[in-house]
Amino acid sequence: MIELIVADRCTNCGACVEVCPTNVLDPAPAGPPLLARVDDCQTCFMCELYCTADAIYVAPDCDRRVTVTSAEVVASGHLGQYRQHSGWDEWGDRFPNNQWLMEVVFRRAGEAALAKETAR
Ligand code: SF4
Ligand code: SF4
Repeated sequence: MIELIVADRCTNCGACVEVCPTNVLDPAPAGPPLLARVDDCQTCFMCELYCTADAIYVAPDCDRRVTVTSAEVVASGHLGQYRQHSGWDEWGDRFPNNQWLMEVVFRRAGEAALAKETAR
């Protein structure tokens, strides 16, 4: 799930608000977009992919939030990794598109959704 936007990296371009398929983010009057509806996050990483400032951190766990700080995320080196490994923007001529790596994540998300549905 989306966990945070590193404020001092965000350029307020609005791309993440626009591309999120489940409308998780709201534009803010000033500063980075607001994580307004995190429960609707599908862990699709689209916002990370379109953030050329590498300001967004989406944790791979699609069932629950994790506690993490901006400093920890910056230090982890994870910011921008998905965009890089997908060969987007400036990475196009250096990295192949490795989005097939998401297959496991999407399968787990599907299984989790099915289990939740079955438990009702
Ligand atoms: S895409 Fe990145 S830089 Fe643009 S508003 Fe969203 S977090 Fe900020
Ligand atoms: S990971 Fe996908 S669903 Fe979640 S906030 Fe980003 S774009 Fe929206």
